[in-house]
Amino acid sequence: MDFTLSKEHQMIQKAVREFAQKELEPVVDEFEEKEAFPLEVFKKAGDLGFLGPFFPDEYGGGDSDLLTNAIIIEELSKVSCSFALSVDVSMIYFGYNLLKQGTAEQKCKYLPSLINGETIGCFCLTEPNAGSDALSVQTSAVIDGDFYIINGSKIFITNAPIADHFMVVTRTGERQGIQGGTTFLLDKNTPGMEVVEMHGKLGCKSSPTGEIYFDNVRVHKSQILGAESGKGFIGMMNSLDMERAMAPALIIGMAQECLDRSLAYAKKREQFGHPISEYQLIQAKLAEMAIGIELARTYMYRVIWMVEQGLDVTKEAAILKYYSTKVTTSIALEAIQIHGGYGYMKEYRVERILRDAKLMEIGGGTNEIQLMIIARNLLKSRS
Ligand SMILES: Cc1cc2nc3c(=O)[nH]c(=O)nc-3n(C[C@H](O)[C@H](O)[C@H](O)COP(=O)(O)OP(=O)(O)OC[C@H]3O[C@@H](n4cnc5c(N)ncnc54)[C@H](O)[C@@H]3O)c2cc1C
Repeated sequence: MDFTLSKEHQMIQKAVREFAQKELEPVVDEFEEKEAFPLEVFKKAGDLGFLGPFFPDEYGGGDSDLLTNAIIIEELSKVSCSFALSVDVSMIYFGYNLLKQGTAEQKCKYLPSLINGETIGCFCLTEPNAGSDALSVQTSAVIDGDFYIINGSKIFITNAPIADHFMVVTRTGERQGIQGGTTFLLDKNTPGMEVVEMHGKLGCKSSPTGEIYFDNVRVHKSQILGAESGKGFIGMMNSLDMERAMAPALIIGMAQECLDRSLAYAKKREQFGHPISEYQLIQAKLAEMAIGIELARTYMYRVIWMVEQGLDVTKEAAILKYYSTKVTTSIALEAIQIHGGYGYMKEYRVERILRDAKLMEIGGGTNEIQLMIIARNLLKSRS
C-alpha cells in the first residue's frame, strides 16, 4: 500500500483548492447567514467534474478512484463544511448507492444529471421515532397491484428542500427485521409528498435540511431501488459502511483548516513581546492538532483503499468515523483557544467550524453507535 498522492491527485487537489477559494469563499458567510445553499457554485462544480469523479464515464463520470473524491471533499470542506456535506449526500448517499444497487435503467435515468450538477439527491432514512434504531422505520409501503402506497414521515434529511430525487427507505411489511425493508426512488413534486424545510441548526446552516411527509404516495414497482423488494435494510447497512468511509474527508478538511488558521494566527499574534507560537503550551496544541489530522487522514486513505479492494470495512469505517469526528471537535476547540477571544467571534471562522464539526459526531450514525459496531466486531472475531 502506497498512500503517496499521484500527480493526478495533486493536480485535482490544486484545482479544487483554487475553485473553492474563487467560487465558494466569497459567498460562504452570506449563505451560512441566510441558511441557503449556493446552487450556482454547485452547478459550476458539476461542470468542472468535481461531483462524483469516481462514476464510470458511461454516465458522464470521471472514471477515477474514491481517493480522488476524498481529496475533493476535503478541499471543499476547508472552506464550507455545509457545501461539502450537501455534495457528499448527493454523490455518495444517493449517487454511490444508486450505482451499486440500482438497475441499469435507474442509473441511466438519474446519474448523468446528478454528476453534472443539474440535479441533487438525498437519502431518507431517519424518522421521528427511528434514529439510531434504523430498523424501527415506520414509513410503510403497501403493495397495490403494480404499485406501492407510501405513508409516513422522515426527519433531518440533508438536501431535502433542494433535492430533485429522494432515496426513501420504507418498511414493506412482507417480512420482519432486516428482511422487511424496501427502498424507493422518488422524484420531487410526486403527489402526496411534502417537504418542509427545518431551520435553527447549530451548524452546517447552508446545507438545507428537511422533513418529508408521505400521504398515500403512489409509486410504481419500477421505482424500487434495484427492482427487488425486501432488500432495503440490507442495502442500507452496506451503504452506511461506505458513507462512513467517505464522510471523514469532510471532517478532516475542517480539522486541517483549524490547524492552518491556528498556525497563521499564532505566528502573527504577539503577547508578552513575542508571537504566541514561541510558547511551548501553544506549540503543544499545534502539535497535537497535527497528530490527530495525520492519523485520521492516513487511516482514511487505508479504509478507502480497503473499499476499493472490495474488503469488508464495517469495523474500520466505524473506527475512522469515531476517531476523525472526535479528534476534529477537539481540534476545533483548541483552534478557538489559540485564537483567544477572537476565536469566539464569527469573523475568525473557527467558531463556525466547531459548530459544523459537532454534527459529524451525530449524523450518519452517532459515535455511540460506532463504538457499538466496533465492539460487536471485536467480540465476534474473538469467539
Ligand atoms: C443536520 C442533520 C442532517 C442529517 N442528515 C440526514 C440525512 O440526510 N438522512 C438521514 O436519514 N438522516 C439524517 N440525519 C439524522 C441522523 O443520522 C440521526 O440524527 C442520527 O442517526 C441519530 O438519530 P437520533 O437523532 O434519532 O438520535 P437517537 O437515536 O434518539 O439517539 C439519542 C442518543 O442516544 C444514543 N443512543 C441511541 N441508542 C443507543 C444505544 N443502544 N446505546 C447507547 N447509546 C444509544 C445516541 O448515540 C445519542 O447519543 C441528520 C441529522 C442532522 C442533525
